[in-house]
Amino acid sequence: MSDIRIDAQFDSGNIEVLEVSGQRARLAIPKDHMSEFRQWFHFRVSGAKGRELELVITGLNDSAYPGGWPDYDACVSEDRHYWGRARSSFDKDTDGGALTIRYTPASDIAWFAYFAPYSMERHHDLVSEAAAAEGVDHRHLGTTLDGQPLDCLELGEGATQVWLYARQHPGESMAEWWMEGALEVLTDPADPVAMGLRKQCRFHIVPNCNPDGSRRGHLRTNAVGTNLNREWSEPSAEKSPEVLAIRNAMDETGVDFAMDVHGDEAIPVAFLAGFEGIPSWTDKQGDDFYRYQKILDRRTPDFQMEKGYTKSKPGSANLSMSTNQVAERFGACAMTLEMPFKDNPAAPEPAQGWSPERSKMLARDCLAALLEWLEG
Ligand code: ZN
Repeated sequence: MSDIRIDAQFDSGNIEVLEVSGQRARLAIPKDHMSEFRQWFHFRVSGAKGRELELVITGLNDSAYPGGWPDYDACVSEDRHYWGRARSSFDKDTDGGALTIRYTPASDIAWFAYFAPYSMERHHDLVSEAAAAEGVDHRHLGTTLDGQPLDCLELGEGATQVWLYARQHPGESMAEWWMEGALEVLTDPADPVAMGLRKQCRFHIVPNCNPDGSRRGHLRTNAVGTNLNREWSEPSAEKSPEVLAIRNAMDETGVDFAMDVHGDEAIPVAFLAGFEGIPSWTDKQGDDFYRYQKILDRRTPDFQMEKGYTKSKPGSANLSMSTNQVAERFGACAMTLEMPFKDNPAAPEPAQGWSPERSKMLARDCLAALLEWLEG
């Protein structure tokens, strides 16, 4: 039988082909440019119609998050609209840690990715469609090192300054799916949640904080290997112009409520992280966050409060991370939303696992929780 062909020279493509034999391939994940992080993969396989593929991604014990591979099934699509899961298994003792993906495509081309990709073309569709909606202003916040625009959408007539921003870590593509869900709600003139929010808030929405890392197929960094969520104390035009532009814009507006949207590689459920340990911590500011967290927990079974990150001790918060910096700098109710790459074991959905659709639905619940929080 003929050899399959593997390609990754496209928007957010990332894979190294070590060896192909028939319908089997040995692969590796290249590092983000100028950094050590590697975890994001995205490639297409052609010439395998009706044959069971065996794709082995090797060397994963040295990936950024080895804990991300057990109980993980790779994402797969044949039409690039519906993303399902392909049965995968991880063996840490084979080939430096190997994820073996098995899948039999019904058609000639199949696409595989760490999570359903969100392309820069789709980003431009999203931003343009939102900008065309009634009452929405588009702002160009700055330019990335690869020369891409940093887009911000603004809407609402209220006094409460709300910042929503996503994809500081570009491989966490569920974060921009979440943004698509949020913008669909907020720009719908008939949506009662949006009506209430637009009346009380001014929204500043950055759907993609890291266009360069997104297009380059990075997990965690921008064009020069900078992890943007470690730059919020001292952003620079050379290393982190994205953060510099967003933080300067926040300084202009002030911030009352902020959500930084991410995905977590290892923990298979959605959760929030707050800003415990900031120097100016007060129980009042903390309680505002815990109250939001409880409202969201009550509203949707796709959110929970049991699993999450360890809270920082008093005075030990890392102010280079955006949630801590924004909480400290503006006294805001700031938080990091994490969604899973894996499937939720408490509510498994084997065909898709955590998906673009669920990310979008969670966005709706986050906004409805915000309205309830504002009224509480
Ligand atoms: Zn992240």
